[in-house]
Amino acid sequence: MTLGPKQLPDHARPRTRAVHGGTRRSQYGEVSEAIFMTQGFVYDSAEQAEARFIESGDDEFIYARYGNPTVRMFEERIAMLEGTEDAFATASGMAAVNAALTSLLKAGDHVVSAKALFGSCLYILEEVLTRYGVEVTFVDGCNLEEWKAAIRPDTKAVFFESMSNPTLEVVDIQAVSDLAHAHGALVIVDNVFATPVLQRSGDLGADVIVYSATKHIDGQGRALGGVVCGTREFIRKTLEPYLKHTGGSMSPFNAWVMLKSLETLDLRVRAQAATALEVAEALSGTPGFSKVIYPFLKDHPHHDLAKAQMQGGGTVIALELEGGRDAAFKFLNALEIAVISNNLGDAKSIITHPTTTTHQRLTDEQRDELGITEGLLRLSIGLEDPADLIADLRQALAAAS
Ligand SMILES: *Cc1c(COP(=O)(O)O)cnc(C)c1O
Repeated sequence: MTLGPKQLPDHARPRTRAVHGGTRRSQYGEVSEAIFMTQGFVYDSAEQAEARFIESGDDEFIYARYGNPTVRMFEERIAMLEGTEDAFATASGMAAVNAALTSLLKAGDHVVSAKALFGSCLYILEEVLTRYGVEVTFVDGCNLEEWKAAIRPDTKAVFFESMSNPTLEVVDIQAVSDLAHAHGALVIVDNVFATPVLQRSGDLGADVIVYSATKHIDGQGRALGGVVCGTREFIRKTLEPYLKHTGGSMSPFNAWVMLKSLETLDLRVRAQAATALEVAEALSGTPGFSKVIYPFLKDHPHHDLAKAQMQGGGTVIALELEGGRDAAFKFLNALEIAVISNNLGDAKSIITHPTTTTHQRLTDEQRDELGITEGLLRLSIGLEDPADLIADLRQALAAAS
């Protein structure tokens, strides 16, 4: 079997890279990438086995927990799209977040994190890392003075989501990266909400970019996955040894799903973001909603920063109903198109009540601080016709009031 990466011209742009990047073809010359559904690999000789365990090249594999040709195609394609030197694919987004932090940190290290985080990310920073002697300081991610005061000479890493889940706060990536780099700290960004299409966090200073591929990358609600993008040095020297020995690798089948999905990621995300803006503009100011939060709406508190940092406002809108939980539940139950679920980035529009689901773990105090109220809903916009979505949301609002 002759595998070899397809060479793309260096000047190829992200959309082209997302279609061709990382492709490896077998002797059959297949057009669509093959699924190498194998845990292991046969060696031609004992000497070859020995040599590969000493050092294996990019297209030499040992065991699927360490790497696999289909997984490698996905890793190379996303790294090319993201503009980083390398990437490592993981079983889920949380495996990626956990590995990015845990592979780097040891007892006595200090981390600064934004407090507006996805629930499981908060669990890792608040409960797992601290249990092993890592000190974590939480800040308001939008307040540069708090970052400045918290980052110290012994700070090893900073972590944040931009935009945050579910209230869509926008962190100034360049400014936080400059503060972190002044103290030699690594900047780790969970870029799920912004997507690789709408925000190039690496160009803004982030060193390590983490994704839940379960969201927009799959984008069709089929498989769990994650990926960590960064320098070759970080991915191969720090992250890979940790992941390959602790078992958080992506399965070849899921890698194939994600690899094929990257081909349409740009089209899907841009269409979903265009619809999200249209929906947000249509609903903004409507009586019955106390808030319509979308970063590209002029009344968003970080509108200018969002415009400077992102090519689109994202695919998620936060809506707050005036009537609290009661109105929110009536609204959810009246919807005819958007489905009640907790994924996001899907082709189907999905709506969630964070207080009682994704952010149930948080204390009332934590939720208050983050603006996660009883009336708040997170709406992930899919690929439906915008007019149908707007009509559906309007009739649900009428039913709820
Ligand atoms: C979903 C999500 C994750 C976790 O991803 P999984 O694939 O569900 O493990 C991490 N960060 C953010 C911002 C998310 O939305």
